[in-house]
Amino acid sequence: MSRYIIIFLFSVVQLLDISLKADDVHFFPPFDFPTLFSGNFAELRSNHFHGGVDFKTQGVTGKPIHAPADGYVSRVTVAPGGYGNAMYITHFNGYTTVYGHLEKFMPAIERLVRERQYRDETFSVDISFGPDEFPVKRGEVISLSGNTGYSFGPHLHFEVRSQEGNRLINPLIFYKEQVRDTKPPKAYAVALYPRSGKGSVAGSNKRAIRKINGNTISDTLRAWGEVGFGVKALDFMDNTSNNYGVYRIELTVDDSLLYSSTMDSVSFSENRLINAWVDYEAYYMRGEWIMRSHLIDNNPLKLLSVDENRGWLRVDEERLYHVEYTLADYHGNVSRYHFFVKGEHCDAQPVNSGAAQYFCWDTDNELRDLGMRLKIPKGELFEDAALHVVRTEQPDALSDRYNLNGITHPLWHGCELSIRLKKCPSDDAKKYYIKYIRGNGGYGVGGVLKDGWITADISSLGCYEAAIDTVPPIVRPVNEKQWGRNGLLSFYMSDSGTGIKSYKGYIDGNFKLFKFSSKNVRLTCNLRAEGISRGTHHLRLLVTDNAGNETIIEKTFKY
Ligand SMILES: [Zn+2]
Repeated sequence: MSRYIIIFLFSVVQLLDISLKADDVHFFPPFDFPTLFSGNFAELRSNHFHGGVDFKTQGVTGKPIHAPADGYVSRVTVAPGGYGNAMYITHFNGYTTVYGHLEKFMPAIERLVRERQYRDETFSVDISFGPDEFPVKRGEVISLSGNTGYSFGPHLHFEVRSQEGNRLINPLIFYKEQVRDTKPPKAYAVALYPRSGKGSVAGSNKRAIRKINGNTISDTLRAWGEVGFGVKALDFMDNTSNNYGVYRIELTVDDSLLYSSTMDSVSFSENRLINAWVDYEAYYMRGEWIMRSHLIDNNPLKLLSVDENRGWLRVDEERLYHVEYTLADYHGNVSRYHFFVKGEHCDAQPVNSGAAQYFCWDTDNELRDLGMRLKIPKGELFEDAALHVVRTEQPDALSDRYNLNGITHPLWHGCELSIRLKKCPSDDAKKYYIKYIRGNGGYGVGGVLKDGWITADISSLGCYEAAIDTVPPIVRPVNEKQWGRNGLLSFYMSDSGTGIKSYKGYIDGNFKLFKFSSKNVRLTCNLRAEGISRGTHHLRLLVTDNAGNETIIEKTFKY
């Protein structure tokens, strides 16, 4: 009985908290058609939590977006990737709303953005405004929805940020009444983690994953010492086939609450802590999201709450332990899963620090190998890690190749890697960079050359070597025969070394706007929008990479 009282109390506290927020602040829906989401808040994404909700836009772009409350346009940005065209509205209620992947801004801002693009001769812009420049009233059309930036289908990415502390807030708090949701979340698998050096699961120091059948798993796992749990789960809503992240997860063992997660808000600095919360190896190796229900050593993520043992269960009696997961969505639909763990004495295997370098999460660490230095500051690892470096000699290359054998040990922000050059074929320091190697490919991570060493900040451990970029960007016309007919100049543009730094297009000697889309690597110019008359014209396109290599395209075309 006590379990239900505890859960009931938790729910009441939760509801009170939410109703306070929702009572204070009113946001009206941004669209005048029924609200459906294709993504929800804090859904699990690569290296981050989804920062808002994705409103469906009936499969098309160009839907008018209405201001959800009074305020003013405080910022607009245009970028080839990310949010594409984005708008920020600062409200007088303590929140700022953000709109991503827009097709067009309101006309006055659209004109201003264009002016800025021409003045600075650049496609990307970031403009801030004061409260008196573009005030908006609730319901006023502020822009049109689109599919710009890193978006793979028309939708509106919508965020609510608290002005104090700049935290991302779950928008469903304000839009609960707009959507219908009678479908509870669903769990697909559970995982059991023996704590390193302190526990065992099924006689082993490796984690065990079990599929869920119905509301339970098909066997009873043996465990001893300290063990943690994890769950793979999704949520659903009515009238869509999309799936979502789970709003609330609770784990109880023998009726006592070990752990809960609640997706109400997340700060930007917490975003990469997602890698400390989920089973990073399962994600990295198989793309599988298993959410841990315990804290590994370094995980200050605020949306998790744990008991005094940080969510770890101490199995020290030879008996059955009753484990229950309760999953809930924001509308209060609940599903429950339970299974047993059998306590059976088994000594934990000691931590094997062996020949590898043992790194502690709570100290500064430095690793040196021949021609390589790695500095991992205190707090960057999420748990202690046994790392070892495999150096591959490359006699003819710029440097040896270093496999920092720890790709499954994610870092919070990153760390510093230096590699010594064995030769310097160019006097131009700008041309050198550190390259991250993955399979046969990879990409540059930048770097600064000093005293024969190149140093870069890397965001993950893995395989690296020094490289030089003397190859100008690739710029290749696409569908050139169609240009005159459809009035669209189109190029494939990429740079495999240090990446594209800038580009500028001139038609008959005058700057014209070329738009770059990172998702399809296309650079385009809409001749009609740029006011080009029918006839024969001359195009000059200059593209440079971050190493200072330049490609110039000169072309005469008929339109
Ligand atoms: Zn989104």
